[in-house]
Amino acid sequence: MHAIMLTNHHTHCDFCDGTTSAAAMADVAQAAGFSVLGFSSHAPLPFSTVWNMDLGDMTAYVSTIRGLADTHAPALEILAGLEVDFIAGLCGPADGRFSAFELDFTIGSTHFVTPLGIPADAVSNPSSCLDQRGEPKFGFTVDEPAADFDRHLEEFYAGDSMRMVEDYYTALTGCIQAGGFDILGHFDLIRKNNRGQSKFSEDSALYREAAMQAVEALRGTEIIVEVNTGAMTRGYTTTPYPALWILKELKARRVPICVNADAHAPSHLQLHREAALRLASEAGYHVLTIPTKLGRQEIPLA
Ligand SMILES: [Zn+2]
Ligand SMILES: [Zn+2]
Repeated sequence: MHAIMLTNHHTHCDFCDGTTSAAAMADVAQAAGFSVLGFSSHAPLPFSTVWNMDLGDMTAYVSTIRGLADTHAPALEILAGLEVDFIAGLCGPADGRFSAFELDFTIGSTHFVTPLGIPADAVSNPSSCLDQRGEPKFGFTVDEPAADFDRHLEEFYAGDSMRMVEDYYTALTGCIQAGGFDILGHFDLIRKNNRGQSKFSEDSALYREAAMQAVEALRGTEIIVEVNTGAMTRGYTTTPYPALWILKELKARRVPICVNADAHAPSHLQLHREAALRLASEAGYHVLTIPTKLGRQEIPLA
C-alpha cells in the first residue's frame, strides 16, 4: 500500500513541543523523498501552557518556515501552518487571530474539555482561566499524561468518563461548525488515554452517538480529516485516529482525508504511514486530499 507522493501536514518542531529544529525536520523530509511538508506548531493560546508557542515567537516561526521553504524549493514544498486549538467561548481557528501571518493552512484541533465552562471574563482577561498552580480552571486536555488525566477525570467528572466523552465530541462538533481551518486534527483523540478501553467502551451506543455528532457536522464542509499516526508512534494506541468505523462513516459522507504523522521528531515522519494508508483503503478511500501552495491536490492511493 502506498500513495504516489510522500506528504505530511502535521509537523511540530522546537518552536513548540517538538524535539528538533524545523531545519532538521525539513532536511530529513527532503532526504526521505517527501514532496510536501507542512509545519503546524501548536498556536499560541490566550493563556500560557508548556506545549504551545508564545505569541511573541510567531514572527520568528513564520519567517523560519518561509526561509526553509525557499532553500528546499522546488524538491520539497514547505508550508507554514499552525495547529490551532478550539475552546468553546474562548478561542478557535475561526477567530482569525493569526490571519495577519497569511498561513498556507491551518489544522483545527480540540484538546480541551471544559466541564466547568470558561470564566465570564476570560476573553478580556485570559489569566482568569488559570488557577494558582497555572493549570486551567475550566477543564483539561484529553491527551495529557495518564496520571494527570486520571486525576482530572476524578476531579472534574467524578469518574464519569462517558460525560467526558460527550463533552469532548460536543467540543469537536463545535470546532467543525465554527470552521476556519483546513484539516481536522486527530478526530478521536479521546481514545489516547483509553488503552484497552479501560476508561470507556468505544463500542457502546453512547460513545458512537457522541462521535456521530461530529461526523454529521463534517458533511458538506470542505474540511479534510487527517488519519493521524501520532499516538501509534508514541505507543498510546495500536491504530491511527480516527477508528476504522468512523473513517467508513466519513467516506459515506464524502469527507476528504489526508495522512499525517503528527511528528514531534524526524523519526516520526514515516512511522506507521503504511498502517494509515491501509486503514484509508479499508474504509473505501481511493485518494488523499492535501493543501498545497496552488490549492488542493488529490493523491491517488495505489
Ligand atoms: Zn494535537
Ligand atoms: Zn499535533
